[in-house]
Amino acid sequence: MILPEVLLSEEQILKRVAELGKQIKDDYNGQELVLICALRGGVIFMADLARQLDPLTTQLEFIKVSSYQGQESTGKLVFSGDIAMDIEGLNVLLVEDIIDTGLTIDLLIKHIMAKKPKDLKVCALLNKNKVKHIKIDYNGFDIPNNFVVGYGLDYNGKYRNLPYVGTLPY
Ligand code: 5GP
Repeated sequence: MILPEVLLSEEQILKRVAELGKQIKDDYNGQELVLICALRGGVIFMADLARQLDPLTTQLEFIKVSSYQGQESTGKLVFSGDIAMDIEGLNVLLVEDIIDTGLTIDLLIKHIMAKKPKDLKVCALLNKNKVKHIKIDYNGFDIPNNFVVGYGLDYNGKYRNLPYVGTLPY
């Protein structure tokens, strides 16, 4: 297997995740919070981020969507698993791996808002910075417009467990 070239090292990512966690903890300041992870890409990020937050006030939820095949977005979002809990009246933080065209986050926001949370904010680890119309409340890193893998992100199902974010040489 070809090892991707490092774009963001494990150290850089963990440092930024700790900063985001501190910011989120300070902002919610003891209030109840439901993190919703967009599977599968957000799973590693959410696992690390969640461990920075207060276990007495934080709940974890998962939603499963996909739009990519190989390195291309199909432009069509497929929901294959909704959240299980009732989030009406609760603070929700949507945790995304990466924002590219914004299609996924747009649809997820509409989908979650229909469930009437008290408040919905967005946290994304990576942002290709093409989307201007959505407020990313917590933004990990702005990255170039390359296809990246690792730290949850895959290429045809592989590389998700790579501890860093890298680019493929093809
Ligand atoms: P968007 O809908 O914003 O175009 O893309 C968001 C989703 O597409 C992400 O949640 C992720 O699953 C996938 N995606 C977007 N860019 C990349 C990328 O560079 N690498 C990988 N592996 N997935 C990506």
